[in-house]
Amino acid sequence: MVERRIPISVKEAVMRVMKFAKEGKKEEVSIYECNGRFLCEDIVANHDVPSFDRSAYDGFAIRSVDLKGASKEKPITLSVIDEIGAGQVCQKRIGEYEAVRIMTGAMLPSDCDAVVMFEVVKEGRENDQPYIIIDHEVGKGTNLSFQGEDVKKGKVLVEKGTKINPGIMALLATFGYEKVPVAKKPIIGIFATGTELLEVDEPLEKGKIRNSNAYMIMAQIERAGAIPVYFGKLQDVFTVSYEAMKEKLASVDILITTGGVSVGDYDLLPAIYKELGAEVLFNKVAMRPGSVTTVAHLDGKLLYGLSGNPSACYVGFEIFTKPIIRRYLFSSKPHLQSAPAILGEDFLTANAFTRFFRSTVSWKEDGLHTVPSGVDKSNIVTSLAFANALTILPSNSTGYQKGERVNVLLLEEEEGSEWPWN
Ligand code: AMP
Ligand code: MG
Repeated sequence: MVERRIPISVKEAVMRVMKFAKEGKKEEVSIYECNGRFLCEDIVANHDVPSFDRSAYDGFAIRSVDLKGASKEKPITLSVIDEIGAGQVCQKRIGEYEAVRIMTGAMLPSDCDAVVMFEVVKEGRENDQPYIIIDHEVGKGTNLSFQGEDVKKGKVLVEKGTKINPGIMALLATFGYEKVPVAKKPIIGIFATGTELLEVDEPLEKGKIRNSNAYMIMAQIERAGAIPVYFGKLQDVFTVSYEAMKEKLASVDILITTGGVSVGDYDLLPAIYKELGAEVLFNKVAMRPGSVTTVAHLDGKLLYGLSGNPSACYVGFEIFTKPIIRRYLFSSKPHLQSAPAILGEDFLTANAFTRFFRSTVSWKEDGLHTVPSGVDKSNIVTSLAFANALTILPSNSTGYQKGERVNVLLLEEEEGSEWPWN
């Protein structure tokens, strides 16, 4: 007799999986190797930026008090007693009616309180002594970039769990992070199951298909920030599959299989989980594609039984595996980023289950628009190539009309959501 499975909601299924979410291990890597990695600690400003008042322009550092009353009719002459470039520090005291020639980024001499730009002074020289003539008043603080203006010491600049990008690289260098604390990448093992599967280098045979899921999942794992390890494909034979999974489980943080989780005669994963002694968290979710997605748990490790159908496999990974990986990488927003969008086509059939259709989203004048990226069936592989989002259509009896507001989950955004389901 075929087992009857009771579907649970997507939200409930995500919650059951996320009970096992935990932060991963930390490691330090050289700043040269950290781009694209995930921070495992907040980056806090360990000094003010800039750490001293400095000139914002090439010009002359002056004492604003000396220029009180300066005008076209009554210009004031200052003697230029020193010259400093960026990185140099003026060692002289600057007295009444004295100025220092200063370049952009150079530290403001402590006796001065403003800078006048080259363009607004008249320069001259008498007895080898340079001077400038200024015909207007200059307020205190003019043309300076002040200490702490960019950021004050102690401020949290980037939260842990953030993927390092070029701007963050600049911050790390600014604050002297020669070694950067990053999350260790979790190792995710993959088996593709199915006697019908051929490897990518094998010629097509009658009744067989090439294993596309393993390569797709490997790329999804990398996009999520983890390391994929492909263990090959397994025939639908219990003992071989069981032994292989049992052996490899020890070497990974998470084990993913594709295929074999349904109730067909050759769907062996339920029996394998039982034999392994794994606790099955769920084996039926009220979603399409991916309703047969099964997640089990054994000794602190999650085992994902994703559907063999390519689209279902893809969606199952993004909804249930990616957030576990991102939590491992210290993210507090581990789920796919959700965003409101306008539906670009009618979906007029009733849905008993929540649908996630593979979509292409694009910005138009009135906001984000979403259209299917191809045929919307779980066994379809071509629609995945153009999908940059999953459109969520919660179950209802009327379907959805073009122009309605829906939520989409963005597949390529680095910043995630705390909780994208209601
Ligand atoms: P299953 O979940 O094992 O019942 O497989 C569902 C469908 O997905 C079947 O048509 C399989 O042939 C197909 N399938 C299973 N594994 C893969 C794979 N690794 N790559 C592509 N298609 C697959
Ligand atoms: Mg199969």
